[in-house]
Amino acid sequence: MERMPEPKAFCHDLGMAALHGDPITPEQALRVLTDPELPLLALLDAAFMVRRHHFGLGVRVHILNNVQNGLCPEDCNYCAQSTSSAGSVPVYRLKSDAAILEDAKRAYDSGAFRYCMVLSGRGPGEERLDHLAALVSRLKATFPMEVCLSAGFIDPNQAARLKQAGLDRYNHNLNTSESRYGTICHTHTYADRVATLEAARSVGLEVCSGLIIGMGEGPDEVVEVARTLNRLDARSIPVNFYVHAPGSQLGDQNHLTPESCLRTLCLFRFLNPSAEIRAAGGREANLRALESLALYPANSLFAEGYLNTGGHSADKTLQMIVDAGFTVERVDEHE
Ligand code: SF4
Repeated sequence: MERMPEPKAFCHDLGMAALHGDPITPEQALRVLTDPELPLLALLDAAFMVRRHHFGLGVRVHILNNVQNGLCPEDCNYCAQSTSSAGSVPVYRLKSDAAILEDAKRAYDSGAFRYCMVLSGRGPGEERLDHLAALVSRLKATFPMEVCLSAGFIDPNQAARLKQAGLDRYNHNLNTSESRYGTICHTHTYADRVATLEAARSVGLEVCSGLIIGMGEGPDEVVEVARTLNRLDARSIPVNFYVHAPGSQLGDQNHLTPESCLRTLCLFRFLNPSAEIRAAGGREANLRALESLALYPANSLFAEGYLNTGGHSADKTLQMIVDAGFTVERVDEHE
């Protein structure tokens, strides 16, 4: 019978496998999340080896701009903007181009690597799509910063128009596993989400897609999402940590611990070695005092808060990065 490697060696072997592009098995992946014998520091060390190989010590800071907020017809039960939410969020239609450009300048001046525009809603109509494409062109011509758009469902034709306008990346999160999707949303399906990601990828847009942990899923479902994102070639994976949005249908049922969050980030690094892994929404509340350890598996963070919840300021985030011995990466450095 094959002997199981001792825990530290097991962690190291996972790192080496990820470095060499050898897929780790679902059983090994599950062990990262569930085996208390695997020391957290050994997992972080192994994940760091992979992260350093692909990204050095650089950290990409993303700043979100909620360019349209509220009044979404979809019923995602964790979301404060959903039609099923009783919470109150600021409601506004698409901000003016001038306001968006001004916000982009602020993001650039704050050290952002990428500017992410997020619109609530099911997806853009044709007129809205043309408007967004023109806006992307202006942003790209004005700032040496990557631009990501999250605007709901798009088809291959719409994706091609955005790509032509200069968009770098399209975001559309899977949020949870396929088997669980029907428990968090009834107005669209997991397959709808995958179709949008495939449309973006088919025209050469980078795909950004992640999940929210802490919504009642099991570890096997987290592994399933990580493997699916690998199959979809997601180049950017935001790992969000659930924070209850007052009024949203999904209650305050978060059982995450700082350690479980860090193990999840390590898992995503092992299963998606060269992807940009982001310690995304809810890092402050869920990682707490261990926040800076997220930089060992992850090479990306958000600053200045999330869609409808606050977060650390850009200054505080940049300080944490430097204090932990990492560096802030800028797009200009790649040119
Ligand atoms: S997650 Fe997006 S699609 Fe779902 S309700 Fe919120 S804004 Fe709408």
